[in-house]
Amino acid sequence: MKEERSWTEINLSNFENNLNELKKFISPNVNFMQIVKADAYGHGAFEISKKAIQCGASFLGVANVQEGMLLRYQGIKIPILILSPSMENEINLIIENNLIPAVSSFDFAQKLAQTSPFKIKVHINIDTGMGRSGISYARAIEEINKIREIKNLEIEGIFSHFSSAENDEEYTNKQSYKFNKILSELDFKPKYVHIANSSGIITSQNNYANLVRLGLLSYGVYTDDSLKKKINLKPVMTFKSRITQIKTVEKGESIGYNRTYITKHPLKYAILPVGYADGYDFMLSNKGKVLMKETLCDVIGKVSMDMIAVDITELAEISVGDEVILLGDAHDSIRAESLTSLYSGSSYEILCQIGRRAKRYYKENGKIIASSPLLRRDFVSTDYSDDKLNTIIETAIEQRLQSKEISNLIYSDVLKRFFVEHDKDISYRRNFVHTIEFKDSAPSPFIRGNKRGFKDSIESPFIRGNKRGLKNSYYLTNTTLTFSKQLKNDYFNIACTKNEKLLEKYFLRNDVEYRWLLDNNFDLKANVFDVTSVKVNNIELYHEMKISEGCIEIRCYHPQLKNLIGKEVEFSISTQTYYPKDSHQVSVYLIELTQGAKITFIFGDVLQNVEAVPIFSGRSKFPQISSDGKSITISSKKDEWVFPISGVVFVY
Ligand SMILES: *Cc1c(COP(=O)(O)O)cnc(C)c1O
Repeated sequence: MKEERSWTEINLSNFENNLNELKKFISPNVNFMQIVKADAYGHGAFEISKKAIQCGASFLGVANVQEGMLLRYQGIKIPILILSPSMENEINLIIENNLIPAVSSFDFAQKLAQTSPFKIKVHINIDTGMGRSGISYARAIEEINKIREIKNLEIEGIFSHFSSAENDEEYTNKQSYKFNKILSELDFKPKYVHIANSSGIITSQNNYANLVRLGLLSYGVYTDDSLKKKINLKPVMTFKSRITQIKTVEKGESIGYNRTYITKHPLKYAILPVGYADGYDFMLSNKGKVLMKETLCDVIGKVSMDMIAVDITELAEISVGDEVILLGDAHDSIRAESLTSLYSGSSYEILCQIGRRAKRYYKENGKIIASSPLLRRDFVSTDYSDDKLNTIIETAIEQRLQSKEISNLIYSDVLKRFFVEHDKDISYRRNFVHTIEFKDSAPSPFIRGNKRGFKDSIESPFIRGNKRGLKNSYYLTNTTLTFSKQLKNDYFNIACTKNEKLLEKYFLRNDVEYRWLLDNNFDLKANVFDVTSVKVNNIELYHEMKISEGCIEIRCYHPQLKNLIGKEVEFSISTQTYYPKDSHQVSVYLIELTQGAKITFIFGDVLQNVEAVPIFSGRSKFPQISSDGKSITISSKKDEWVFPISGVVFVY
């Protein structure tokens, strides 16, 4: 947070505390709906929803279809009720995103049912005295019964909304009475009935409802002073900033626009980089308080769009960059209720507007567990975690293709390889040139007189009693691989295993640059897989062999590599090994994103009738195949990208 001009901290532990306090007021058989409209009153709907679900919320309440849709995109699965009336043109989105609309008229209910391919659940909203949305009380019974006749529609809930639960008990009881009366006059009982907002559960005898809707109190803000005696709430949001300048002025000077503040004595003041554009209300001009070093300081002059001035005459030890708390639980005077009471404002409103330019940090048990970026109009990829980016990419493909299924396929087959399996480490190779050359094995190349210099039969690469019959079963094989790639480390490995299963793990490791599958009949010894030369930018590397159960691992390194880390270098790897004659095929895979690939199989007079079957994905689906009777070469264009996993199988 050091680099932030202002930021909000969302204390999820306080939120959990508030939910626990509120639960004490509702009986165990009553469920709760977490109200997360307006981005959870400015706290961040996604993180608040997750926490609420963890604390037992069985519903979420949002203001409109867009808010509900966003939560669905973010992976929230529990039922979501849209509290405000929806528009007809939103019906398709409501259905697609599995949201529950509030219904305030027969007409809307009918349109919903006509559009929905399945029986759609709704909650009917009755106006029992709020005087806002919902079916008017007087017409409620008639209208509900009409709606009930609609096929393809299920009245899952009936609800109403208190207008003054925090401070008008009489009116609240009147509303409760009306709501109760309607429910008793209906000849059916919906699964959910609900009327209480968070204040309502504390002030009303809400004994008939089985769902409550928790909003402001769960965010730790009192709706009325009288509630302080009844429940102990902790503010969830803290809004902070830093001093950007400190100044002193003489008596009689003015501070800010329109000279509303004239100094009565010499004054020291601080400029904070927060104004009404950051949600610090203009009405706090000459009224607001901020907390610096545990001292309350006055906002002096008018709140500007981007700045406020604060009197710090009393503060001795203070400097530019010091932290300032503008809203939060550190002092009673900077709680939302206190600040808004200075200008008869609404604490609901200040929470929604605070931090428009601030990054959010979510804290739990004092630790930051998540953060969300500034509200921006443009997408800035570095704002997002890899996880989030993955979701964005997948949904973008989905939208483009209009198909979840194909998008899943592309994502899991291509992108997952980059983003998940290789985990952040996306590398690519250029000018990939791989040459495999078969030389005939005869006469007895493995035992005596071999130019590789096997001294005696004990060093023969083959185990005794090999069922293939030793000497003519294998081709002596020379391979050379060159490519350019960014050097990640001052070493890398070459791996060679006896079976595919063992080889698999080396495909997942990104410190392995070359992999070879040996014949299962080999006894793993140094001379069955011989690294003849490994170079990086022409530096001949040292190599060290490690033989373990079924695997040969060769570590290639050189002190000079340290200076090349991060640079694109040319790798060159040559090996000599053996290939079983009866395999009848040789395959080469490109397991990294590759620009320009050329794979050559040289068989000379050793083989006849060799065919190449390339399987390339990416732009270059059809590589060039050329053959001269002694070798076959598969090549893509030099600047063309080939996706993993592409490859070629040479069949003989
Ligand atoms: C916003 C809202 C609530 C939550 O009210 P609080 O006073 O914040 O607890 C509950 N029900 C409906 C219909 C709402 O719109």
